Amino acid sequence: MRIAMISEHASPLAVLGEEDAGGQNTHVAELAAALVGEGHDVRVYTRRDAVDLPDVVDAAAGYQVRHVPAGPAQRVPKDELLPYMGEFGRWMAEQWGDRGWRPDVAHAHFWMSGLATLHAGRRTNTPVVLTYHALGSVKRRHQGARDTSPPGRIGYERALGRAADRVIVQCQDEIGELVRLGVPRSRMALVPSGVNEEMFRPEGPVAPRDPARPRILTVGRMVERKGFQDVIRALPAVPEAECVVVGGPAAELLPADSFARRLGALAESCGVADRVKLVGAVPREEMGTWYRSADVLVAAPWYEPFGLTPLEGMACGVPVIGTNVGGIADTVVDGLTGDLVPPRDPRALGTAIRRLLADRVRRFAYATAALDRIRSRYSWKRCAEQLSAVYATVSTVGRVVPAVA
Ligand code: UDP
Repeated sequence: MRIAMISEHASPLAVLGEEDAGGQNTHVAELAAALVGEGHDVRVYTRRDAVDLPDVVDAAAGYQVRHVPAGPAQRVPKDELLPYMGEFGRWMAEQWGDRGWRPDVAHAHFWMSGLATLHAGRRTNTPVVLTYHALGSVKRRHQGARDTSPPGRIGYERALGRAADRVIVQCQDEIGELVRLGVPRSRMALVPSGVNEEMFRPEGPVAPRDPARPRILTVGRMVERKGFQDVIRALPAVPEAECVVVGGPAAELLPADSFARRLGALAESCGVADRVKLVGAVPREEMGTWYRSADVLVAAPWYEPFGLTPLEGMACGVPVIGTNVGGIADTVVDGLTGDLVPPRDPRALGTAIRRLLADRVRRFAYATAALDRIRSRYSWKRCAEQLSAVYATVSTVGRVVPAVA
């Protein structure tokens, strides 16, 4: 099939860890590669956010990236991209017109891509599949007045869920959210993300560490909802351990980063500053070395649409303590492949970390069961196979047309 993947702010070619570059970028890159592996012809459409980007990039994994001219050719925060989605959609519609490369299905990632894709899909008669990645209703609930999403987001998300041919949900929690939003359950297909098992595995190089000090690792963009503050507040309960935080801006920019400074000040006030190490953004290829260096991975977000980092840790054979939210509640099986704790509860987190660090047998059992779970459920190949089946149900290509007697 010819598959168009639309990811307006999250390029598969981006450097990860910065404020708007995280799981969606990884997801789109891995999924595009896995779909190519299934024999599909894949093009990814992402906004041109720098003047010096080529129009077309052939990614090594065999898919093409098209930089779409929509809005200024410079970085624009994702919450300010809505005004350019009409332009984005019109550009794609033109490309997919009669003489162009015509996709059999267009898979939009994030609601704004959904708007642009629906526009292009309607004009070119292309079926549209949508993955939200994150929901405005959840963000509003958690961030209240601090939510910088455009005011109409929730309404747009509701309308998109009714207009798209299929909505891909990534976890059980998302199904409930969407049903409450008014999206028909029959329109949804549950296809969780995968993890790159070549990049993330138990064997391989390990980042330098002090063997005498247990290492707690936590990974993510430097935003409040990732819960790094709660991990720092939990540290007094584990006086022997160090806490390594991977993600955020590049290491040299950390001293000027306001959120990193807040974390530093918090660590001071908790009396744990000498045990907290902010590493900054790490290239994706090196992430495995950091996971493998840890005794425990803590993923403590306040909410999490899916959460790739717990999966990556599990694939590297590291036991995970996660908060019982979003996709983490599906990927981590409490007491079997890891521990789940309530979000925003440093006391519960501290107790769980202390218990797990003190119990080598339990850590081994979690890591072994987690690896098994990853291998049986969370490969990108499996994800691409499941999505191919969904695409076939909405597109005329790949659909089995019953013979007329
Ligand atoms: N990541 C990375 N370098 C960093 C920090 C994160 O490559 O310095 C990657 C991480 O390995 C994962 C993704 O960014 O693949 C984060 O995805 P997740 O779903 O955990 O969080 P999101 O950013 O989508 O909120």
